[in-house]
Amino acid sequence: MAENTIFGKIIRGEIHADIVYNDDLCIAFKDINPQAPHHILVILKEQLAGLQAADVKHQQLLGHLLLRAADIARSEGIDDSGYRLVINAGGDGGQTVSHLHIHILGGRQMTWPPG
Ligand code: 5GP
Repeated sequence: MAENTIFGKIIRGEIHADIVYNDDLCIAFKDINPQAPHHILVILKEQLAGLQAADVKHQQLLGHLLLRAADIARSEGIDDSGYRLVINAGGDGGQTVSHLHIHILGGRQMTWPPG
């Protein structure tokens, strides 16, 4: 409850987000600055700064997050066309919010390498 990131505030309902999925362990909502026609963030409700802070005790939670991301992509209708999951970890990874999250990006052709 101590967490003061923007995602902590979304979890607590202190700021609005366009929520597309919610369960006991995670919540998913539309990114405020979408980089693709479908851009959804899936976050753990438990505070975890990023993948770089995860350890074996998070194994089940991380599996849950990935499987829910696949379900959400399916419910968004982008599972057949394809999509990309991104986890930015730390400064060089481009992480700007210190609360572990998976980006689901879809609805357009992705390119490689990423910027
Ligand atoms: P990161 O750069 O940490 O991987 O991703 C953070 C993401 O959170 C960015 O894509 C950014 O657009 C999104 N974001 C930041 N603030 C808010 C907010 O208040 N609401 C929503 N829905 N997304 C946000």
